[in-house]
Amino acid sequence: MLPLKEKDKPIIQKLLSAGCCARCVLRFCCVSVQAAYRQPQQETLQKLKAFLTDTENGKCQDSAQPDSTDENNKSHDAAVSETPEDPPSKRAKLDPSAAAAQPEEDAAAVGGLKDDDSHVCVVCLGILQELCGTVQAVKIAEAVKAKSYEFDTLVLSVSLPAQLCVREHSCWLHVKKEVREKGLVLDKDDVIQVKEAFKWIMQGLVAKELGGVAVVTKSAFEVGVEFTHPQTDTDCHFLATTCPDCFKPTKNKQSVFTRMAVVKALEKISDTKFLQHYPCPPAQPSSSCISQDIQCLHVSVFVAGRYNKFCRSLPQTPWVIDGERRMESSVEELIAAPILSAFRADGFNFSSSGREDVDVRTLGNGRPFAMELLNPHRSRLNKVEMKELQETINKSSDKIRVRDLQIVTRDAMSRMKEGEEEKTKSYTALVWTQKPIQTEDIAFIDDIKELTLDQKTPLRVLHRRALAIRQRVIHSMNTRFLDPHHFYLGLKTQAGTYIKEFVHGDFGRTKPNLCQLLKTDTDILELDVESVDVDWPPAILE
Ligand code: ZN
Repeated sequence: MLPLKEKDKPIIQKLLSAGCCARCVLRFCCVSVQAAYRQPQQETLQKLKAFLTDTENGKCQDSAQPDSTDENNKSHDAAVSETPEDPPSKRAKLDPSAAAAQPEEDAAAVGGLKDDDSHVCVVCLGILQELCGTVQAVKIAEAVKAKSYEFDTLVLSVSLPAQLCVREHSCWLHVKKEVREKGLVLDKDDVIQVKEAFKWIMQGLVAKELGGVAVVTKSAFEVGVEFTHPQTDTDCHFLATTCPDCFKPTKNKQSVFTRMAVVKALEKISDTKFLQHYPCPPAQPSSSCISQDIQCLHVSVFVAGRYNKFCRSLPQTPWVIDGERRMESSVEELIAAPILSAFRADGFNFSSSGREDVDVRTLGNGRPFAMELLNPHRSRLNKVEMKELQETINKSSDKIRVRDLQIVTRDAMSRMKEGEEEKTKSYTALVWTQKPIQTEDIAFIDDIKELTLDQKTPLRVLHRRALAIRQRVIHSMNTRFLDPHHFYLGLKTQAGTYIKEFVHGDFGRTKPNLCQLLKTDTDILELDVESVDVDWPPAILE
């Protein structure tokens, strides 16, 4: 039962003669009934031919052509096709079902049609033929199963060779002539796309092979099917001369003939010019597209928490100079390793609310951090599993500790970064003084409130940060006398304040500084971050 009308007949005739497959014919007839594409393609071809030979209007859907799903008819047809008149070479070329469904006289009856049904379609290059069916669905399902992802639904994405657009355009022009002559109306946008038809056919088959998982249009899990057709790659090349500004070399692409560029060029080129450079209808290919490896991709999962760093020789991120590692580990690697393996992710991006120097500890409640996990094969861990994961991290090293570990959304992650400059941070510094001091000498510092500093970019970071003067505020300070040359200085500051430079003055680049306040040289021996006052991620109650 094909939803076709009498007016489609000349188009069908023309497309079949040009070497289009049955499903491409349906596409150009703008058939949007999905079930029509799911019929075996050889059956559809028979129905199309029967429709053409049927002169009576409207009888197409239950025409003289027997339904080949009927076993009796099938065996009858098979007997017909195996008559002695059949040349053996031709029989060998046809696959058994095609032979069964196609009595010889049909092809002869429809004048000018290609009599060999096993040819590769000139438009879809085989994609809607044997590359679209149970065999392909099994291949996709096996590839997905082998990678053992955790998912409820999946979206099928299809990547087609760019030259398919050129062939589609050529075929469209071929049909357009006919449409014009007959005074018919056909809009190019109404033609069903190859991709669309492929999905209509494949989604259900893939779902079935994967045990009934929903194949939908939007999902966190994407299964990519890619087709290439090296034999016809040069189809696009003439467009580069007719439309040079559409094909600018880009960094990451192997070829300038991307699908987007080709589509753009085809929108620009006039019909006359196109027809001067490209055959209409397209030339017959000798082989089908090649199906590339199935690509699976799960959208990122985001994990956040807070970390403590107890070690004065651990950088936050891997420390590599001239390709050589300077420290054997880093905060992010210690945290990431167990998380990556729990989520079976391919990689990660780590970010945190500020960062500390390699020799600075982060104590108290810790520093908020978030990680984007790339292509996680597992995406859901419940609260208990997250707690276990946190324990695994904490048992793996005594240099760091993690708390409040949780899965967050991508949006939530930006909360950590927003308003970072306005947040306050608390520090404890161990300060050395050149002049001997007593408790009374430093007591006045406890009374200093809202001290504004002008900080010229510190010498130690000048190689990676622009030279500027930044104003930062020390909200409050407190002192704890240790001995005549040492005391502990507690500071509550605006985020982004350079504490080391405030203490030693950075050759007068930070003003005012502790040397000026105490009227003696001072230096910083140790620094700890006591708290980072960002109320994200939310604390997890035990
Ligand atoms: Zn086709």
